[in-house]
Amino acid sequence: MKKVMSGIQPSGSLTLGNYIGALKNFVKLQDDHQCFFMVVDMHAITVAQDPAALREQSESVAALFIAAGIDPARSNVYMQSHVPQHAELGWIMTTLTAMGELERMTQFKDKSSGKDSVGAGLFVYPSLMAADILVYNADLVPVGEDQKQHLELTRDLAGRFNNRFGEFFTIPEPYIPEVGARIMSLDDGTKKMSKSSPNAGSYIALLDSPDVIRKKISRATTDSGREVIFDPANKPEISNLMSIYSECSGMTLQQIADRYEGQMYGGFKKDLAEVVVATLEPLQQRYNEIRSSGAITDILAEGAGRARVVATETLNGVKERMGFLPAR
Ligand code: ATP
Ligand code: MG
Repeated sequence: MKKVMSGIQPSGSLTLGNYIGALKNFVKLQDDHQCFFMVVDMHAITVAQDPAALREQSESVAALFIAAGIDPARSNVYMQSHVPQHAELGWIMTTLTAMGELERMTQFKDKSSGKDSVGAGLFVYPSLMAADILVYNADLVPVGEDQKQHLELTRDLAGRFNNRFGEFFTIPEPYIPEVGARIMSLDDGTKKMSKSSPNAGSYIALLDSPDVIRKKISRATTDSGREVIFDPANKPEISNLMSIYSECSGMTLQQIADRYEGQMYGGFKKDLAEVVVATLEPLQQRYNEIRSSGAITDILAEGAGRARVVATETLNGVKERMGFLPAR
């Protein structure tokens, strides 16, 4: 069975972008793949996190994985920091990565721009992400469009290792959705929706109440003009809302354009809010059940236990090939 690996940072409340770009596909892939789905806390600390908030968000993200439909009996759900082999292989991958490769990463440029002081962890983050994927020899990595460049680096590092030390790593493929791979921010159609944005009005959180969702969508920036047509180059904001509509309703972009032909944005936005609310309500209900059941601790322990077995075997193979003296 082919292996699937992906992670989401507990750096805030999960957004509709995380759901459409990544989580929805996690659920889809678990039927016929061996899956490793992590809450990547070691990545989250590449920017400052409040300890209490990090703890709460970590459990919340894990519960959202399950609420979204990941079955912990079939898929491994766990915390990145509970499998220390990630950090160890991460260091090894860092030593194989060139500074120039990291300097080219657009996420680093975005996240560091305008900051007085930028942590070195943010800079080497892509090497740790490569380790996350390679430690399971994953075949497929379901991610949003923004992670494509990091995945390219992962593929390069795997190939580099194989060239220097002999065939060992599987070269992973990205799995990026056709619609919704880059859900844009509600207040700016040129920026992607991000859970770490300081402006809560820029994203829809999976745990937002129906009223908050309605308010955020009604306030979402829209392009001048009045037609509901999909044209990302000229109408990025309405096109983004149409992608969300399509992903939450199952309707195609064309069907949506037909339904709202000759109508203005107001009615479309009102309906969109209801479509989003209807998508998130059952998820929120399951989320509340899981949180109050207290089951997450055991789910994470079991997932990490199984993941450690696979990760340890890979790491041992890496060390042997690189010439590390075996520990006794
Ligand atoms: P942060 O702002 O802290 O980086 P984030 O919202 O970008 O948070 P990540 O944890 O970095 O979330 O990414 C988790 C997954 O969600 C990744 O696969 C990423 O590609 C995907 N993703 C993130 N934002 C979007 C988006 N706006 N549209 C589609 N997919 C997204
Ligand atoms: Mg991100």
